[in-house]
Amino acid sequence: FNDYAAPESEAELAFEGALRPKNLSEFVGQTKVRTQLDLLLRAAALQGRAPDHILLAGPPGLGKTTLAMIVAEETSQPLRMSSGPALQHAGDLASVLSSLLPGEILFIDEIHRMARSAEEMLYLAMEDFRIDIMVGKGAGATSVPLELAPFTVVGATTRAGLLPNPLRDRFGFTAHLEFYEDAELEQVLHRAARLLELELSDDALTSIARRSRGTPRIANRLLRRVRDYALVHETPASGEAVDRALELYDVDALGLDRLDRAVLHGLISRFRGGPVGIKTLAVSIGEESDTIESVVEPFLVRSGLLARTPRGRVATELAYLHLGLPVPEQIPL
Ligand code: ADP
Repeated sequence: FNDYAAPESEAELAFEGALRPKNLSEFVGQTKVRTQLDLLLRAAALQGRAPDHILLAGPPGLGKTTLAMIVAEETSQPLRMSSGPALQHAGDLASVLSSLLPGEILFIDEIHRMARSAEEMLYLAMEDFRIDIMVGKGAGATSVPLELAPFTVVGATTRAGLLPNPLRDRFGFTAHLEFYEDAELEQVLHRAARLLELELSDDALTSIARRSRGTPRIANRLLRRVRDYALVHETPASGEAVDRALELYDVDALGLDRLDRAVLHGLISRFRGGPVGIKTLAVSIGEESDTIESVVEPFLVRSGLLARTPRGRVATELAYLHLGLPVPEQIPL
């Protein structure tokens, strides 16, 4: 059980696959994004063309990969999966692009981590469905243009701010995924419990939802832990079983995990509650600043435990109260 909001194992990936909604109507919450996507896909279908390129932005586990799969499903097109880290040379991208089928959906996860040279090739490909391929080496190298069949890029990023403007501008539609409300997470859990044939009491459902960091992936993961607990202890999946199981895995009443609490504790004990820069804070707790910024911080800010100020990150009164620490007289907000 780790602290990150990414799939933690092959078993979890398989589990997620089984629980993934298959079409827009099964996709819970994100009503605005769903309506926008639906319109975009329907308009493209009426005009018989490939839909505009789509950028999905938001913290891990909110449904970006799921939506990419749904786009393929709803357009009845094949889906090609790739990711920024796999596209470290223009050649990597050229081989993917040149082998796409007409109309294919190309999903690029963590698109902000693509190499610059690949990024530049992607602009041209997205705009004109054309790339220039370099043939030969050194002085004799020439570039040969290659026409591509129309396709749709679905890009996903946890850090939309890191995307260069020219790339961002090539997307006809950008969806910002928001954290889910508790009632929506209850729907996600209800559906998952049904698929798993697990009987879950209402208070168990509410309690898991409340502690899922607004994130469906985490809701499903906690559900798995509760299922394990109920199975091993031969008890029903009740509210009490949830409390016991989640306590065992260090998930507290607000759903904060160890890393979330380490960030708050570090901020308060080493920097007197801030303000402090994110990089300094990350180093002090031995974590990557990218992880803090894309995984931890968005949820802490949303929960009102952490504030971003021009001078750095600051722990709020709520953070002190939640950790059971004395609240200082002045908080530099
Ligand atoms: P991301 O790509 O943003 O990290 P995923 O699309 O992989 O997130 O979603 C993680 C898991 O959460 C999936 O297995 C899926 O079952 C579940 N999930 C995400 N969004 C929803 C949703 N809106 N409704 C139901 N389940 C969801």
